[in-house]
Amino acid sequence: MKIEVLTLFPEMYSAMNSGVIGRALESSAFVLNVTNIRDFSADKHKKTDDYAFGGGAGMVMTPQPLHDAINSIDPEHKCKRIYLSPKGKVFNQAMAVELSKAENLMFVCGSYEGIDERVIQLDVDEEISIGDYVLTGGDLPTMVVINALSRYIPNVLGNMESTEEESFSEGLLEYPQYTRPFNFLGLEVPEVLISGDHAKIAKWRFEQQVEITRQRRPDLYEKVKEEVEAKLAPKKKRRR
Ligand code: SAM
Repeated sequence: MKIEVLTLFPEMYSAMNSGVIGRALESSAFVLNVTNIRDFSADKHKKTDDYAFGGGAGMVMTPQPLHDAINSIDPEHKCKRIYLSPKGKVFNQAMAVELSKAENLMFVCGSYEGIDERVIQLDVDEEISIGDYVLTGGDLPTMVVINALSRYIPNVLGNMESTEEESFSEGLLEYPQYTRPFNFLGLEVPEVLISGDHAKIAKWRFEQQVEITRQRRPDLYEKVKEEVEAKLAPKKKRRR
């Protein structure tokens, strides 16, 4: 997969050079190109923003540099072009999985009060929000989305299983995790986890997932409630 990012702050992406994503980029599991929108400004002072028509506080990113940057990097519109915006569809794990299947993605980052609406009309395929709050720019949202989707690109995670049993993957939050030591400051690991009985461990983990999701995220629980309750119900013996 090739990912293009258009931003006024390319230096922020040095944050992607470490950890799992850094290793994935080094091994070319996917390619990340970061372009400075300012380089495409036709203004003699390389301006990229102006006052809003109709007044109001703050500046708006002008259409010319953005339109030219988007179409010069992706002239044949091979990329799925995403504008990060609080007005977009709220990002979730299912969207991360779906985006991870694309060959070419482009993320357009806004700054100031956002970008001229005509760029969205002309050049953007989808608007994505990372939550119901407003940040100063689209760079952190872009990094959040890239980080989440890249976990589903082959060879990014050492062990693909780690995406199969985690929070949200089955509509439930994850069970509690423990490692050594067995006793930490008087708190012991639940006995079942050292029983060696895999069926019992799986049952305990599932029950924990159900309880945690029911308590913390009733909205998620409602969606899987029927399926979960059927799974938890004691199996009736068939009559001969
Ligand atoms: N005036 C805009 C509004 O009220 O919807 C907010 C603009 S915000 C200060 C500047 C830029 O940050 C946006 O253009 C967008 O790219 C990005 N941004 C801010 N919050 C975001 C969020 N929750 N999700 C995605 N992008 C966001």
